[in-house]
Amino acid sequence: MAPQNVEIFDATRLIVAPGFIDIHAHLREPGQESSETIETGTQAAARGGFTAVCCMPNTKPVNDNASVTRFIVDRAKAHGNVRVWPIGAASVGSMGEALAEIAAMKQAGIVAVSDDGRPIASAKLLRQVMEYCRALDLPVIDHCEDSSLFAGAVMREGKQSVRLGLRGMPAATESLAVARDVQVGELTGCKLHIAHLSARASLELVRAAKANGLPVTCEVTPHHFTLTDEDVQYDTRYKMNPPLASREDRDALIAGLADGTVDAIATDHAPHEEALKQVEFDRAPFGVTGFETALGLGLELVHAGNISLLRMVELFTSGPAHVLGMQRRIAENEPADLTIFSTEHKWKFRAEDSASKSRNSPFDGREFRGAPMATIVAGKIVYRR
Ligand SMILES: [Zn+2]
Repeated sequence: MAPQNVEIFDATRLIVAPGFIDIHAHLREPGQESSETIETGTQAAARGGFTAVCCMPNTKPVNDNASVTRFIVDRAKAHGNVRVWPIGAASVGSMGEALAEIAAMKQAGIVAVSDDGRPIASAKLLRQVMEYCRALDLPVIDHCEDSSLFAGAVMREGKQSVRLGLRGMPAATESLAVARDVQVGELTGCKLHIAHLSARASLELVRAAKANGLPVTCEVTPHHFTLTDEDVQYDTRYKMNPPLASREDRDALIAGLADGTVDAIATDHAPHEEALKQVEFDRAPFGVTGFETALGLGLELVHAGNISLLRMVELFTSGPAHVLGMQRRIAENEPADLTIFSTEHKWKFRAEDSASKSRNSPFDGREFRGAPMATIVAGKIVYRR
């Protein structure tokens, strides 16, 4: 029997899952509030079914010290719609030289360390960061990219980059850096998490590292498991980093999501206000929004028979929790963070109706089968469809 005066939510024919966690997002506050704020970003996250989001440190200023971490934690407490778990920078200003105040940031609430937006600059710096983070039991998340191969490219190198006359980068731009990271990870014993993995060769390195018993994990974004470089047009909503990959890579990512090589689906939600994206392809910043379309795209894999529903739920819940050294389950005395979703509800995503301040989604106008119906954080309904 329910106690009196409580809200009843009828979840008949819906899936009740532990609260979804997004381990890779950009909330743009402090410093770029015209693109997103903690308030609007977490509102979009709640609409996407996420009960917790990890925000990358490439704000202005960079989250490389405890005062910025505390600012984010305090703003999130005051204005956040879901839990916000900050990720601290690995180096001061993410400039790749001096170590950031990692221990002080951990005290202030960071859950991981990354120089995302760019790779951790050198193997030597990565080693130092990993030695610190191993002692503090923090995972190091790396944006894997060899800068000499990256060389100002704006998309994946291939037939389509030639056709469009845009500068391309090969898949090895990513996988070379993954190889470096796995070896430095082995040297230090630190937990390594590969951000937005996009290439088959990178996935094979992660698979081998796992087989060798190394604490290596990785995430894949919905845009990378859905689109390929063949979808790229002169439209900056298709410009992100890493860029959309080849069909072979995309198919390998789907296989990795199914077989457990991939630990988490992460959005890499990267809002940019219209003025920034409404420029030539070459000049536009990288990034696409992602909170509100992630579950719909994950369910496309389920409906197509590529992964099971249970596996998809793991990729949004226990998978990312494991990366962060946490647990996520529905049980007594656990925080009541729940994502309630339909696998059948039909709807169309309209970027202009998004809760995000930005509109830069390649999925504007896409029709979905399945949607979040309610998002519950600490027992409170923060979104209801
Ligand atoms: Zn990145």
